[in-house]
Amino acid sequence: MAGFSFLLSPIPHPPSPPVPELPEVETTRRGIRTALRGRQVTEFALRDHRLRWPVDRALAKILPGQRVRDVRRRAKYLLVELDGGTLIAHLGMSGSLRVLPAGTPWLKHDHYELHLDRGGCLRFNDPRRFGSLHWVTGDPLEHPLLAGLGPEPLAREFDGDYLASRARGRRVAIKQFLMDQRIVVGVGNIYASEALFRAGIHPRRAAGKVSAERYARLAAAVKAVLGEAIKQGGTTLRDYVNADGMPGYFRQKLFVYERDGQPCRRCGTPIRKLAQGQRSTYFCPACQK
Ligand SMILES: [Zn+2]
Repeated sequence: MAGFSFLLSPIPHPPSPPVPELPEVETTRRGIRTALRGRQVTEFALRDHRLRWPVDRALAKILPGQRVRDVRRRAKYLLVELDGGTLIAHLGMSGSLRVLPAGTPWLKHDHYELHLDRGGCLRFNDPRRFGSLHWVTGDPLEHPLLAGLGPEPLAREFDGDYLASRARGRRVAIKQFLMDQRIVVGVGNIYASEALFRAGIHPRRAAGKVSAERYARLAAAVKAVLGEAIKQGGTTLRDYVNADGMPGYFRQKLFVYERDGQPCRRCGTPIRKLAQGQRSTYFCPACQK
């Protein structure tokens, strides 16, 4: 059982967990990879197939006997690579994947589980059912869900030059540009606000009116913000599902997100909030131009 040291004890599921963002998905990947890699699937149990898209019942026949080769991530999708294909799992708005001891009773909102040889199972819980599970036998990156996505924010190819070239002539606000999955994946609302603050860029500035130099700063800020959240996430996944609805580790480090009316940590000017694309954006009117 040594391989199952990660999250072995059942964790109570909160009533309304926060939306998993890229750092939480990456933290999940690292945890389940340790527990799954090299293990053979002995059974696939589907308790309820009605997720965002119906889960294929045939998986109960397809998966047993296959070994897990690796667990990778593309954007917010987890790719569980097996001998004969890949499971593409998304956590949706409220989902979580956990490694639990075999025989753990089903909890409310548990939808499927993979049983593994030598004990343990991978269990999916999702109160809002926006999560998904697909099986592909070809290249998973060519699946319609994944094809057409922009680069990973932590990849080398994502840099200031890339952003500047994609932004040329664009009038869309920089905040929305940064959250466009075709431009770059996994930069959610919190991280977009925080990265723009760190780069000193006003969230409403037109994407085509940001200099190459500032784009270099912005790309670095995106990598830093996400990198810090991932680094903390590995040790505080439990906090990620706290009642507060926000990763406790990260909230203390936020400069602008949900801090409207409070003094800027850099200059003291009250942080402001504005609406962009039905999402709230937070910024410092003095530090961001
Ligand atoms: Zn400021």
